[in-house]
Amino acid sequence: MNVILLGPPGAGKGTQSKLLVDERGMTQLSTGDMLREAKTSGTEMGHRVAEVMNRGELVTDEIVIGLIEEKMAAPHGAGFIFDGFPRTLAQADALGALLARHGETLDAVIEMRVDDAALVARITGRFTCGNCGAVYHDQTRPTAKPGVCDVCGSHHFTRRADDTADALRQRLMEYYKKTSPLIGYYYAKGALQSVDGLADIDHVAQAIRKVLDKH
Ligand code: ADP
Ligand code: ADP
Ligand code: ZN
Repeated sequence: MNVILLGPPGAGKGTQSKLLVDERGMTQLSTGDMLREAKTSGTEMGHRVAEVMNRGELVTDEIVIGLIEEKMAAPHGAGFIFDGFPRTLAQADALGALLARHGETLDAVIEMRVDDAALVARITGRFTCGNCGAVYHDQTRPTAKPGVCDVCGSHHFTRRADDTADALRQRLMEYYKKTSPLIGYYYAKGALQSVDGLADIDHVAQAIRKVLDKH
């Protein structure tokens, strides 16, 4: 089973992806995570990617499609969760071709609906475990013990350079101009399912389970 989680920055894609990995042994393919890894690689490509990401703009289709292609060819679990990919129509077409080439189907595209006003609070409160990548929030998803990761016990946390109110405005603009047309694209293909992303984390997870259990 292969699914896309579609939604603006802060919609909860990463949080729900990690739950699906734990529950179903699926493989999360987050182009944001892959690009952040490239950023720290010290290569020329890494520097260029860092500048674009910090401004809140999209990285070129060629780069992200190349990253996805590489991961799909590697050994993987029971299906893919595409998290933050595709983000343009060209990426969506490329993904369709890649899946066909691997003899795979796209089982659902889950749109996580949230309103823009909620996203500022989601993004500015986000922090991540620097060791295992678990995602937390100052108000809505704090660690059980302050300063200690629930998953791995690490004391080291990071905040993203692009998780500022300013960069978020640019990221939202990119979302509306380039990514939101995918909602119509997948609706027309008969693959679109929408869930209420404003519900609490457990309820969103339940709604996603319901969609996936139909397949
Ligand atoms: P995305 O990957 O779509 O950008 P994340 O999963 O990183 O979104 O979530 C953004 C922030 O909001 C994180 O700090 C996360 O802990 C928090 N969050 C995620 N889902 C919910 C939810 N349903 N309710 C409240 N906060 C949430
Ligand atoms: P969020 O969790 O807030 O939705 P991501 O971690 O998915 O953000 O992406 C962070 C940044 O990485 C984006 O603002 C963009 O610069 C870059 N990026 C991630 N995925 C893609 C993609 N599929 N196409 C182009 N740029 C991407
Ligand atoms: Zn951790």
